[in-house]
Amino acid sequence: MNKEKIQSFGDQVQRAERILVISHTRPDGDAVGSLIGLGLILEEMGKEVNLVLEDGIPKVFHHLPASDRVFRESAGVYDLIVVVDCSDIDRIGNVLDDHGEPDINIDHHPTNTRFASLNMVQEDAVATVEMIYDLAVALSLPLNQPIAEALLTGLITDSLGFRTSNVSPKALRTAAKLQELGADLPTLYRKAMVEKSIEAVRYWGLGLAKIQLEDRLVWTSLSLEDRKLADYTGRDDADLINVLSTIKDTDISLVFVEQTKGTVKVSWRAQTGFDVSKTAIQFGGGGHKPAAGAEVKGNLERVQEEVLKATRETLTGRG
Ligand code: AMP
Ligand code: MN
Ligand code: MN
Repeated sequence: MNKEKIQSFGDQVQRAERILVISHTRPDGDAVGSLIGLGLILEEMGKEVNLVLEDGIPKVFHHLPASDRVFRESAGVYDLIVVVDCSDIDRIGNVLDDHGEPDINIDHHPTNTRFASLNMVQEDAVATVEMIYDLAVALSLPLNQPIAEALLTGLITDSLGFRTSNVSPKALRTAAKLQELGADLPTLYRKAMVEKSIEAVRYWGLGLAKIQLEDRLVWTSLSLEDRKLADYTGRDDADLINVLSTIKDTDISLVFVEQTKGTVKVSWRAQTGFDVSKTAIQFGGGGHKPAAGAEVKGNLERVQEEVLKATRETLTGRG
């Protein structure tokens, strides 16, 4: 983030009174942590802040401060609209209809489409929360324990518990600073990364029973029927993709999650040396080289076939 952009961000938030902060659908810990972290910073500055996620806050983040103040719809007119952790504007869903255009885009995805007036995109940030922490420090904005809890959650989840290849000494120093501000690292870690509901584990079981492995490619699917059988209320894979990506002697893992409305959510994870974000872009998605996603129109079987074909090409270097 260069100095001019940081200053422009500071000027715009200082001037605004009513601010909308939004992030992506099927929100992860970085989406939630960035949204709440920035929201609380702005509130501490005396701003009127609306926090909106089209899908609401997933249950695993209900322990976070202000999670009960995140709504599914925006309301009224805003002086400033900030989008966090979103690589393209379609990923916010429909929350901006009639409420204006995004002013500020804060994100770390290499596939970011620069959709706002001020685009702050830092590809080497481990998580968007790291950028928000840096902004707060650079502009001497308020930081306190609840803000630190939200920000540390994003850092823990996007780095899969500080084990992704992009974890830098700086990210670890940021985590230490957030801990010094009062964020309880072991508890936040356990809540976001370790604890699973019995429904989520049953859902995993249904996915794991169908696992397939072929030429260092491992994949499985979760149907709407599986969701019902397991009583799982989320629309995601309950993080099954990160279980598949632990399988030895594989290069790329995929999970296909059937959605209502005739689409399939695809998640890719890859070992160092592969770039699955390129494959995800072919299907209208995006992400990072080792972790990408897309929502693809079509039925489960057809999407699976097409995506596996394109992913095999990535694997053989032809993608
Ligand atoms: P996921 O597989 O959903 O955990 O996502 C892995 C990475 O890909 C994350 O960085 C997401 O932000 C990104 N991603 C997931 N779905 C999409 C999508 N539909 N469009 C763009 N990026 C996505
Ligand atoms: Mn995210
Ligand atoms: Mn992120």
